[in-house]
Amino acid sequence: MSNFFETSIEFLKGVGPQRAALLQKELKIFSFGDLIQHYPFRYEDRTKFYSIREIDEAMPYVQIKGKFTDFEIVGTRSKKRLIGYFSDGKSEMEMVWFQRIDWVMQKIKPNIEYVAFGKPTRFGNKINIAHPEVEPITENNLKGNSFQPVYPITEKLRARYLDSKQIGKLQFELFRLAEQHIRETLPDFLLRQQNLLNKKEALKNIHFPKTQELLSAAQQRLKFEELFYIQLRLIKMKLVRQGKFRGQVFNDTAILTKFYKEHLPFELTEAQKRVIREIYADMKSGKQMSRLLQGDVGSGKTIVAFICILLVIGADAQATLMAPTEILAQQHYSNLKKYADRMGISIALLTGSVKKSQRKPIHEQLQNGDLKILIGTHALLEEEVKFKKLGLAIIDEQHRFGVAQRSKLWQKNADVYPHVLVMTATPIPRTLAMTLYGDLEISAIDELPKGRKPIQTIHQFDSQRLKVNGFIRSQIEAGRQVYVVYPLIEESEKLDLKHLMDGHESMTRAFPDVPISIIHGQMKSEAKDYEMARFVKGETKIMVATTVIEVGVDVPNASVMIIESAERFGLSQLHQLRGRVGRGAEQSYCILMTSYKLSVDTKTRIETMVRTNNGFEIAETDLKLRGPGDLMGTQQSGTLDLLIADLAKDGKILQQARDAANDILNTDPDLAKPENVVIKRQIESMRKTAVNWSRIS
Ligand code: ADP
Ligand code: MG
Repeated sequence: MSNFFETSIEFLKGVGPQRAALLQKELKIFSFGDLIQHYPFRYEDRTKFYSIREIDEAMPYVQIKGKFTDFEIVGTRSKKRLIGYFSDGKSEMEMVWFQRIDWVMQKIKPNIEYVAFGKPTRFGNKINIAHPEVEPITENNLKGNSFQPVYPITEKLRARYLDSKQIGKLQFELFRLAEQHIRETLPDFLLRQQNLLNKKEALKNIHFPKTQELLSAAQQRLKFEELFYIQLRLIKMKLVRQGKFRGQVFNDTAILTKFYKEHLPFELTEAQKRVIREIYADMKSGKQMSRLLQGDVGSGKTIVAFICILLVIGADAQATLMAPTEILAQQHYSNLKKYADRMGISIALLTGSVKKSQRKPIHEQLQNGDLKILIGTHALLEEEVKFKKLGLAIIDEQHRFGVAQRSKLWQKNADVYPHVLVMTATPIPRTLAMTLYGDLEISAIDELPKGRKPIQTIHQFDSQRLKVNGFIRSQIEAGRQVYVVYPLIEESEKLDLKHLMDGHESMTRAFPDVPISIIHGQMKSEAKDYEMARFVKGETKIMVATTVIEVGVDVPNASVMIIESAERFGLSQLHQLRGRVGRGAEQSYCILMTSYKLSVDTKTRIETMVRTNNGFEIAETDLKLRGPGDLMGTQQSGTLDLLIADLAKDGKILQQARDAANDILNTDPDLAKPENVVIKRQIESMRKTAVNWSRIS
């Protein structure tokens, strides 16, 4: 089907081959359809003109009427800049250009009335505007078009004079032609039920809003649509899986009762009980379970996993648990083995380092059903690993595995899918979970076992290092162990590594009598494992490391986590790191070391860490902080590549969209009813253009 919206962008009046190439490269705009979906990321209020005296640097953008009285070029070479003295008749301020100076001098003349627009900043004791937008006064801009769209562009586009204004002009040209071709993409009943603007009105008002009300309605409609089709796809995936694969029914609780009566080491928290009920309901339902289990570090996921495993063993099936690293697999193995031994259940560990001769019996016992529980790493995915009857596959720390690997594990049984439980210690905000794991059910352990001492988090500036060292010393003397973590990112790897080494050296100097371990990504994995093992055994007292220790490592005796250059870590990462301590009975501490100069966002991150230990709260804050970035107008949601919806803000719309998608698929799973024909057609067309549809898979 040749379609108006598939027309190459080159053929729009005002574009042509050169600009088309630029739009493709910079903004991935290939077709008319791509351009019309290139939505403004904000709107400027051009109703008000400010007087220069009113302006301060806290204002986002201001619009001023006035004249340039004089121009001056100051500085040379890279310091060269053009200053224009701009007067509104009462007072004067500076407008500054660092680039395109010749062009500005040609275009802008003294003593003509202009409208200047831009972001005020403070420079010394003066307020100025750098690179303002300057236009001669016309009737049009005097009247003030109330909501001026601002489009995401890049530095390159700006340099080639394809700025937001120009994109706006192209949008105007396109919309004129496109109007008659715009089809509705949501069914009529849904528009009425959700009280949504139709597609044509929505597109018109997203680009050229008449009023704030119409703009909001347009945003609501387009966000709903975007989220609706994502949810529809995810829920469909789940239904297909459930329809295709009968779930094994596990409802024999005799062995479970025995464990509860004789071996349960502590009383379960309410949250643990609730989650176990949810999982149990799935496992006896006859439908295949795919569930995400979220729970902060230390919330007690292991025992929940074991109880679920028992349900499976009770029906004479097998269970497996896959962890992302050898160390973690080992830890799971020794934790679960304690319980399994008490119950007389066979359990084995399979990782890359297990010798061939030891693998053979594991493979055999797995196939004849003698081996009930197998814990491991990626090694579990190997061809030779075959189960007699795999009832439950547990995957720890899912974000380290790809979706493809996940499904590989699901296919370990020839005839039936095992139930799948994905465990993660990184709490994810609801909106994100619903999108990233929308094909899974979600359970959360949102409560820590009683009697835990909350970790004390303290912020210290680098200048306080002596004090911090004194504290480390006192903890080590009290028998504790200490982590010191350094950031290491690819872009600055060399320098980061140097900081780590320097840090290690100064620790050695400060604590000459204390054995210290060091771990970083450049080390061979055997060397890393060796150092880690020494620390776990308590042979070394201080562990200097990069974030390689982030994942689930459990050393109950470690009670202090020092995070160096804490300003360089994301909030969720800080929280993950902090979770390495506070695992034993002792009071634990997390010390965030930073320099003096901190950005507003960094301050928020540090304050949030100091204030709360709740991973769910931290995840929400993190999402809000990393929400749509405003880097040269390129929208950076940092999470999912959405066209208009924002998972940090649109939770309510997301829930509505998911509910609607659920309702529709539950009553009409194949979208065969006439009223759903629009949906079917839209899915087809999205599949073809593969925008959105492929984005999240
Ligand atoms: P995580 O969710 O991080 O995997 P674990 O399962 O390792 O947490 O549990 C952390 C610690 O808390 C373990 O030592 C475990 O035995 C203990 N624990 C778990 N649940 C409870 C509970 N309900 N009451 C007391 N201690 C618990
Ligand atoms: Mg764990």
